[in-house]
This record gives sequence, structure tokens and C-alpha cells, in this order.
Amino acid sequence: MEFDHILIRYGELALKGRNQKYFINQLQHNIQHKLKPFPNIKLKRTQGRLFILLNGEEPQPIIERVRWIFGIHSLSLAIKVPNELTKIEEAALYALENSDGKTFKVSVRRVNKSFPKGSQEMNQHLGAHLLRYTEGIHVDVHNPDVEIKVEIRKDATYITSHVIPGAGGLPVGTSGKTLLLLSGGIDSPVAGYMMMKRGVELEAIHFHSPPFTSDRAKQKVLDLAEKLTAFGHQLKVHVVPFTTLQQKIFQEIPEGYAMTVMRRMMFRISEAVCRKHNILSMTTGESLGQVASQTMESMHTINEVTNFPILRPLVAMDKQEIIKISRAIDTYDISIRPYEDCCTIFVPKSPKTKPKRDKVNQFEESFDYQSYIDEAVQNIETIVVSDEKRQDNLFDELF
Ligand code: ATP
Ligand code: MG
Repeated sequence: MEFDHILIRYGELALKGRNQKYFINQLQHNIQHKLKPFPNIKLKRTQGRLFILLNGEEPQPIIERVRWIFGIHSLSLAIKVPNELTKIEEAALYALENSDGKTFKVSVRRVNKSFPKGSQEMNQHLGAHLLRYTEGIHVDVHNPDVEIKVEIRKDATYITSHVIPGAGGLPVGTSGKTLLLLSGGIDSPVAGYMMMKRGVELEAIHFHSPPFTSDRAKQKVLDLAEKLTAFGHQLKVHVVPFTTLQQKIFQEIPEGYAMTVMRRMMFRISEAVCRKHNILSMTTGESLGQVASQTMESMHTINEVTNFPILRPLVAMDKQEIIKISRAIDTYDISIRPYEDCCTIFVPKSPKTKPKRDKVNQFEESFDYQSYIDEAVQNIETIVVSDEKRQDNLFDELF
């Protein structure tokens, strides 16, 4: 006897009513994708559950991959047996003996009403059986070390013990797409992660200013993008040549407003990319009050140039919380690599912390920026980063 299945529970999805099928199809697709390196396994779907049939594969590496897939509430190793009392007894005993629990309880769910014993009767029967064949183990119905769960379904009975928490959220691909403004910093990769957790697929845009920003700075962004593929399949990174426009801004615009105008240009270019690729929103790593440029006034002024939704999942988070997530998703060490990015190079000595819309509009009036925007958009280099060579190096702090 051995654990031959992994049972996947998808909690929140069950609430999605008529959309449920669509969500589960996407989840199934995402799981199948992540398990490509294990050709022997089979993914099966029964009502309200997904099962991975291990077919001789080691369960641990599979669990390690699957638990990061959004939309999964929890996982358990499971034993599948026919709907026969002696087989169920045997499997329940195996599950208990293979846990290190000193106290247990049995929870039977009889989905298949034609099974002769009811749930309550089975709880008592199996509890007594387990007590008889083990030593030093007790029943504790309120706070057991291990819960032996028995699901008697139509085709078979599944027995599980330990419950492994899943990543939660919604399957990536069920909430549309966003364009992530990905810098080399700590915040924007975390913002991307949070959107993916809500089921949103990402494309990324990065503003690159060679020779002021180096190839290593660009590589850093691609490495961050690769980390994010742990939660999806692949990520398109649109690298925008930003040097000319940026230099122009610093020539044309009074120093205190150059940063504000630069951000407005970033949004204008991002919107153009969204339109081209049918993306309906943008996401940034902005967090209110974190740096001088991230004030309410600044957001108000920067936001004026687009009416596309700008999603800011970190807006109300503390830096410490953001760093904790960035460590957990393994982007932190890349983010703190010391290479310059375009914003740090052209930082004016005293940027306005409360830039005004009318002021900035006045400054932009005499600056014919549209041709620079068009040129930047035309010369975008798009790099596709995939999860194929990604190492799974994520940490339990996320749960
Ligand atoms: P991050 O840690 O994400 O770099 P930050 O705290 O450094 O953020 P800012 O430099 O003010 O904050 O940038 C705010 C947001 O603007 C970033 O989170 C990112 O979404 C976007 N951004 C900044 N620079 C770039 C860039 N070179 N390319 C793409 N997006 C950028
Ligand atoms: Mg930054």
C-alpha cells in the first residue's frame, strides 16, 4: 500500500457559480503545464476535485511544483481503494501510521449514498479499528495532530491525512491581462506577483536607457521576469529604448518637474503598448509615501495622461511587508543587485513632491514629445522569458 494520488482542493473556485467550469479548465491547464516534466502522471477531474495519479512518480517534487499554482486551496497525498470496508480500514491505518501524529480523528464523507454504512457510523468504525491496531495513539476530536479524511465517492474511496496549504488566489489566465511596469527594484516584481495571485496574466514593460543603464541592468529585469514565471508560463518583456526621450525631457522641462514628466511619458508609452497588444490595464509597484515621488499629488498628476486603469497592489503596504514577499518569491536578491536604473541616473536634485497638473501641462505644451514616443514604441525589443529553466526556490513564508 502507498500514497498513489495527490488530491487537489480548489476552495474559492467552488463559489464561482456558472463560471466555475471556466476557472477549473484554466486551473487544469496550468497544472498540466507545470507538470510537463513528469510525463507519467495523469491529471483527473471528478466533481469538486482534481486528482494527480502518480503512476509511480515520487510525490514530493510534484507537490513542490503544484503548491505554487494559484487557484489551489490545499493538497494532500491520497490513497485510492475500492469501496470495500476492509480496504478502507487498511488504507486508513496506513495513512495514520505514516503520519507522525499522536492524536487523530477520522472524518468520513460519504458522497456515494449507496455505500452501506453512513458517515457517522464509519467514523466510529474506523476510529475503533485504528485504536485497535496502533499503540500509544489516541482520539482527539477537537484538536487532533492528524485528521484521517475518508471520501467515499462513486468510483472509489480516497484516504488522506496531512493537508498541505496551496497558494490560494485564482488561476492565472482567468482575470485578463495587465502590463506590469517592471523596473529593477524590489517593488514592481512583488506587484506583479500580487496581480498574478488574483488570476491576472502579465506582460512586462521596461524602460531602458543605454548607455546610462547597462546590459546588466537589463539582464536583472529579465532575471526578475523569469522568477515571476514560477506563477505562470511565460512572460513577454517589452524593453523600451528610453534614452533619447529621457534626455529630451531633461533638456526641455524644468528640473523639479522632469521626474513627473518622465513618469507621464512612461504611462503614455505603456498605454500605446497596451492598445497594441489588447491589454486593458497597467500595474506599478508604487506605494504611497514610500519615496518623494509617490505622493497623492504625484499620482494625481501622473495619472492624468491615461484613462486606462493603473493598478497599484502595493499602494497601502509597508516596505517591510513588501520585502518579506520579495524574499519569499525569491526576487529580493536580484532586486538588490547594485545596477543603476533609468530613474536613478536622471534623478533631479530636488524633484517636486507635489507636482500640479496645470503646471506640468504648461511645461509639456512647448515640448513636441509625440514623435519621440512613437519612435520609442516602434523600436521596442520584445523578449519572451519562459519558466523552463527556472529553479523552484520559493519559501514557505508565503503561506
Ligand atoms: P521599484 O522598487 O519597483 O523600482 P521604486 O520604489 O523604486 O519601485 P519608483 O522608482 O518611484 O519606485 O518607481 C515606481 C514604479 O514605476 C515602479 O514600481 C515601476 O512599476 C515603475 N518604474 C520605475 N522605473 C521603471 C523602469 N525603468 N521601467 C519600468 N517601470 C519602471
Ligand atoms: Mg525603482
